[in-house]
Amino acid sequence: RAKAGGGGTFDFYTEELTAHAFEQVLLEGSLRQALATHAFVLHYQPQLELNGERLHGLEALVRWQHPELGLVAPGKFIPLAEESGLIVPLGRWVLAEACRQMAEWRDAGLLSAETMMCVNLSTKQFADQELLGVIQRSLRESGLDAGQLELEVTESVMMRASDQVIPQLERLRALGIKVALDDFGTGYSSLSYLKRLPFTKLKIDRSFVSELPEDASDVAITKAIIALAESLSLDVLAEGVETARQRDFLRVHGCRLAQGFLYSRPLAAVECERYLAAFGSRAVKG
Ligand code: C2E
Ligand code: MG
Ligand code: MG
Ligand code: MG
Repeated sequence: RAKAGGGGTFDFYTEELTAHAFEQVLLEGSLRQALATHAFVLHYQPQLELNGERLHGLEALVRWQHPELGLVAPGKFIPLAEESGLIVPLGRWVLAEACRQMAEWRDAGLLSAETMMCVNLSTKQFADQELLGVIQRSLRESGLDAGQLELEVTESVMMRASDQVIPQLERLRALGIKVALDDFGTGYSSLSYLKRLPFTKLKIDRSFVSELPEDASDVAITKAIIALAESLSLDVLAEGVETARQRDFLRVHGCRLAQGFLYSRPLAAVECERYLAAFGSRAVKG
């Protein structure tokens, strides 16, 4: 990389920026097209009870089925979808599809009426005046019970708290919809928001779980989050559980729920259907 100074160097950086902007425009265009051509799919990751390992719910995770690139992970396109505002129509599709799929599996007898469908919502979606109507329509059209829907939001929603977010969350809660705080511990939240906002679950971020039980700080933080959840009467789930040792630590320390590769990776709909069928027979036997 050239040192700063001469005019040529300046041009070099300008060109690099332009190329980046150009790529963004191309990507945004193909995201729009992907929406129009129904190129997004949902995968589903099981969430389990640590005691007895009963199925608690499924988290819907969006992927982009790209003609050349194959299955593209959300980390690659959600940030741009947020910047460009495309997250709003994309998020509407995710909500409708997750509810539709869940009601279909329920009707097929593959899961109980208490199993949750968990859907990630971007902070931007909370600014959408129609969010509530979109959710109600997804429930109505699918026939899914509001009590089976949980929305996952990150701590960044709380930076916009008060004006829009609190009333929006309260209206959702009034419908019987649950709200989980995702990636808990990684954002900039103040603990007082936990008291003011009507959350129902804390999801302990994967970064605190990955080095359990060796890392002393992660042990302390995880125990503190579990205690916090308990004292605020919130449900608590550990994300990214990959090993039996992590699971055993979490179980012993009173974490109720877990999700991670130890149990299952996110599954395509057909795979998830097989998982649910196998799970059902295992639950009956067990
Ligand atoms: P998230 O909501 O925290 O979802 C958990 C992520 O951790 C998923 O990545 C999942 O595949 C991954 N994961 C689960 N268990 C393990 C594990 O044991 N080990 C490891 N290393 N990873 C694990 P994914 O599917 O790539 O999604 C990434 C993020 O993209 C999500 O994080 C969420 O913030 C966002 N996202 C996904 N789908 C949607 C969506 O429909 N709407 C919005 N707004 N955001 C979404
Ligand atoms: Mg999530
Ligand atoms: Mg998370
Ligand atoms: Mg995460």
